[in-house]
Amino acid sequence: MAARRFSPLFFRSLSAPSSSFLTRSSGKNGFSGRNSKGFATTAAAVEEIINPPVQVSYTQHLINGNFVDSASGKTFPTLDPRTGEVIAHVAEGDAEDIDRAVKAARKAFDEGPWPKMPAYERSRILLRFADLVEKNSEELAILETWDNGKPYEQSSKSEIPMLARLFRYYAGWADKIHGLTVPADGNYHVQTLHEPIGVAGQIIPWNFPLLMFAWKVGPALACGNTLVLKTAEQTPLTALYAGKLFHEAGLPDGVLNIVSGYGPEAGAPLASHMDVDKLAFTGSTETGKVVLELAAKSNLKPVTLELGGKSPFIVCEDADIDKAVELAHFALFFNQGQCCCAGSRTYVHERVYDEFVEKAKARALRRAVGDPFKKGIEQGPQVDSEQFEKVMRYIRSGLESDAVLECGGERIGNKGYFIQPTVFSNVKEDMLIARDEIFGPVQSILKFKDLDEVIQRANNTRYGLAAGVFTRSLETANRMTRALRAGTVWVNCFDVFDAAIPFGGYKMSGIGREKGIYSLHNYLQVKAVVAPLKNPAWI
Ligand code: ADP
Repeated sequence: MAARRFSPLFFRSLSAPSSSFLTRSSGKNGFSGRNSKGFATTAAAVEEIINPPVQVSYTQHLINGNFVDSASGKTFPTLDPRTGEVIAHVAEGDAEDIDRAVKAARKAFDEGPWPKMPAYERSRILLRFADLVEKNSEELAILETWDNGKPYEQSSKSEIPMLARLFRYYAGWADKIHGLTVPADGNYHVQTLHEPIGVAGQIIPWNFPLLMFAWKVGPALACGNTLVLKTAEQTPLTALYAGKLFHEAGLPDGVLNIVSGYGPEAGAPLASHMDVDKLAFTGSTETGKVVLELAAKSNLKPVTLELGGKSPFIVCEDADIDKAVELAHFALFFNQGQCCCAGSRTYVHERVYDEFVEKAKARALRRAVGDPFKKGIEQGPQVDSEQFEKVMRYIRSGLESDAVLECGGERIGNKGYFIQPTVFSNVKEDMLIARDEIFGPVQSILKFKDLDEVIQRANNTRYGLAAGVFTRSLETANRMTRALRAGTVWVNCFDVFDAAIPFGGYKMSGIGREKGIYSLHNYLQVKAVVAPLKNPAWI
């Protein structure tokens, strides 16, 4: 497939914005419109919608190297979060499609070349895929933004390059996976073989469709497994495109199978399939419990889970406030607030609290919301009506509590799923907005007095995915990084996602780690081979 170049007109619209889509204008407080509470209304922000210049080419399941319809013939619509309109109708998988895909993966594992081929050859296919990602980066980025609603600048400048980077990282591992020689007591030569686990079932969410594809598919393929991937029903398009590129890169048929569809109909049969040897899931904690139970009740397949979070972002009294405000803003609002590790509890020391709140509010009011295809846009729509309604429910619960609404709190426009960047201050731990994962552009700011107290409060949650600490003191940073019970602690930074850095959760944020060397452990069996050093008397 040749790289497609898009019309210069499209890219002019990306680079030459009209004033109507930005929340910013030259008005006194920086806003063009205000609602009854004096906040930016920004309805104009979402009126102009750019027509993406791509055709959706791949909508069927990818099974055994072919794009095929569902066994039932059913399809479902994937929607444009900017408008709620249909982008394309996609094959809707169910148990029968999952079974076809698992059979193809089984055959490719048991009889195909993939697990046995020289690891260097596997590595070269992953590298060729990464090259094709770069060659087709514009189309991939446009599709990702169209299906998900995230800013095009984020898709094109950060996520597609990261997709290629992740596969090059895993390509590097493919031919460096090996076992040990073990010094055992007695007359024995003992070695461990690190073997692929078999057929992996993988279920991914919609917030980073291509990066979640890479986190799952990369390590599994590097280790020589075959796969069935179930994409999220909100964002099925880019994984299918990536699947097509993988076959162009020379991946043997049946190694990577992709089924689109809904959770209970397509995800559940994958989790409970008797011929799936391993399950990896990213999504909500509630669904994580469901798939873990399905795996346990079927064939006890090992499960890795990357689940929800309610991550603290702690601003110490010695912090540079302007920088802390900016980073806390990014930690929460990035990707429309749709990050499992979002810094969604902003703890601020009491001595700098009032200044921080004032500046956090000003920053949120400056946030550029609008059509994610337009240049300068920081925030697009939430992914779908369900997520939109959920976020609005949490905002209502905040309004009904004693928290103070500093800004935002309302929908923008009357189509699509745009929400005003929202900031609550005076938030207390017993409020729903401080306890639950909102997964939207809603910042909750809490006040603390000293480090012992904030450590205790930060850890007082069922989650443990990530945490952020903002301080100039090395001593404070070291103390916090040791005390916080979370899979990642970012110090004076946030959302740093290098391919080599492991990611995963403590407590109800998950089981196991993705990325880095740790992710390989999820896709390998360790076999001990024991043989006498010298022929024993009994043979
Ligand atoms: P969210 O609520 O953010 O959409 P979910 O955890 O429900 O998160 O979804 C993440 C992934 O899990 C999606 O691919 C979804 O289709 C899938 N899923 C949802 N319900 C189930 C289920 N009962 N069994 C298996 N997979 C499911």
